[in-house]
Amino acid sequence: MTGVYPMQMRILSKSKLMALRQCPRRLWLEVHQRELRRDPPSSEARFAVGDLVGELARSLYDPDENGQFVDIDVLGVEGGIEHTAALLDKRVPVFEAGLQGGGARAFVDVLRPTRKGSARTWDLIEVKSSASLKGSHRDDVAIQSYVARSAGLPLSAVKVAYVDTSFVYKGHDDYQGLLREVDLTQDAESRQREVADWIAEGQAVADLPEMPVTQTGLQCRTPHRCGFLDYCRTLEAPVEFPVQWMPRLQGSLREHVRSQGIRDLRDLPDPLLSPQQLRVKTQTLSGLAYFDRAGAQAELADVCWPALFLDFEAVQLAVPIWVGARPYQMFPFQFSLHTLTQDGSLNHAEYLDLSGEEPARRFAEALLALVPMEGTVFVWNASFEQSQIRALAARFADLRGPLQSLEARLFDLLKVVETRYYHPAQKGSWKLKRVLPTLVPDLDHAALTEVNDGHMAVLAYTEAVQPDTPAERRAELDRALRAYCAMDTEALVRIWQALRNPG
Ligand code: SF4
Repeated sequence: MTGVYPMQMRILSKSKLMALRQCPRRLWLEVHQRELRRDPPSSEARFAVGDLVGELARSLYDPDENGQFVDIDVLGVEGGIEHTAALLDKRVPVFEAGLQGGGARAFVDVLRPTRKGSARTWDLIEVKSSASLKGSHRDDVAIQSYVARSAGLPLSAVKVAYVDTSFVYKGHDDYQGLLREVDLTQDAESRQREVADWIAEGQAVADLPEMPVTQTGLQCRTPHRCGFLDYCRTLEAPVEFPVQWMPRLQGSLREHVRSQGIRDLRDLPDPLLSPQQLRVKTQTLSGLAYFDRAGAQAELADVCWPALFLDFEAVQLAVPIWVGARPYQMFPFQFSLHTLTQDGSLNHAEYLDLSGEEPARRFAEALLALVPMEGTVFVWNASFEQSQIRALAARFADLRGPLQSLEARLFDLLKVVETRYYHPAQKGSWKLKRVLPTLVPDLDHAALTEVNDGHMAVLAYTEAVQPDTPAERRAELDRALRAYCAMDTEALVRIWQALRNPG
């Protein structure tokens, strides 16, 4: 379906209008210099999850299998819009339906034929892989609704369908109930004037001969990290102490940064900072590390030997594949354990399940078999390991007692570091990878290439458990996962030793 436009009117896609919502310069760059965009690796994984949920939505919204998918990779944008117009007469569900009207175009995830009285209408549904409704989803469907109405499509409802985390997979490819619909018809209708203004603004911005002058700021990471960030930074005078190094930039402090256009830590007023933020500012400006060695030693003085250093890796899937699993439920599949005895001997044990079967039970059994019954268990950010152990204890009544006593022995090394230590090279982060090189320069995650963070570990796991992954590749991923997890617990040992070192 197409509308009638003045000859020269530029038609903006929904994604371009969403780019405008983030920042006018981003829209201009998308139109004129898209080749400068560098999306972070995490967006690839996000898009892959979106595709997976989108594919599933097609089967959920088309149980009779008479729906039609508009493939713009084959048809092209114009072809997709024309093909959609032809499909609408058939009154069947249309997926990735191409619509154009009011100066914009959108490809709608689902158009479902409905009736309102005697009128033939459509439900417009946008499918999201997230576990909740977000502000940007409202913008998204407001644009789609505007385009559909401008194209003359009678809508009965405008909805977002997102992943319902209370859904439990019962097997047999039965995903009925995976998506939860939220009706945004009224909301989208009430924003039609707003959308018209975005389109007019977007067309004006896109037609500018020069890129708009915009300063990088908090908008560059909201709702997602902008792919032009590296480029935009090259255009600005370098900031010696970027404000992004300040942790927990939230609430009134965030608003102050935004409203004042603050780019440098030096311009943050001390009275607005928490004690920890003030320390970050002070140490960054002085270039010196803060280390309350006596305090750290006092906190780490009581050790029940052997000292144990434990780290888990876990996967969460938007579309559960194991019976009884919920969307985005965490499943630990790997752990590494270093054991240090009082006489200084260090041993390593590990567990990794790449069978592709639901890993929780075997993981819990291996954990109890390999972690000694005695000893303080040091972890980094205990809330993660704690929540995993609790979930296992809740599921497996026969293992509950030993799992609960393991949980009781956890000791969070991060808490000590957060209060007793800060090095300017951490740049406001207490991730293990940031702290490690400042205390233990000879141990570096950068030496690991295939897997060197939790995100890559999940990607490696997901690839390794695919039935069609060749055995050689699986072995490679197995090695990379083991090396990564082992380095994490070796890092815990070395940080613990550095903190206890009398200096
Ligand atoms: S990096 Fe920031 S300033 Fe540059 S285009 Fe993106 S959002 Fe705009």
